[in-house]
Amino acid sequence: MSPCCAVRADGGRCRGVAIDGSDLCYQHDPAHEHDRRRAARKGGKRGGRGRPTAELARLKDRFETLAYGVLSGKIGRADGAVAGQLLNGARACVRDGLAAKEQEELVARLEALEAGLEQHPQGRNGGGYVSF
Ligand SMILES: [Zn+2]
Repeated sequence: MSPCCAVRADGGRCRGVAIDGSDLCYQHDPAHEHDRRRAARKGGKRGGRGRPTAELARLKDRFETLAYGVLSGKIGRADGAVAGQLLNGARACVRDGLAAKEQEELVARLEALEAGLEQHPQGRNGGGYVSF
């Protein structure tokens, strides 16, 4: 395995490993630009869809900070209890929002399938032949 010979924007040498038949790594080889763009687009979509996950991670941090505050005496138990309940409400919103979004996506997919069946009804009388 040989190192990639591309130079990074900051002037440093790329630390990637050159792919077979090239002296450049996957990130720098122009032959893979199309794949890379597609992967980046996919990543972007997944990032959008994954937003509730980020929200949940943020809430988890707040729960932990809150728990630490209460246990260390920095936050009173009553304040901690109320804040915990409110955070729980926020968590329920994120979770319900995610469930609703999933359901909407499923309904849309079912409707698309049904529309497809109505346009191609030959499956209904078996064998795939149209009867006159
Ligand atoms: Zn490289």
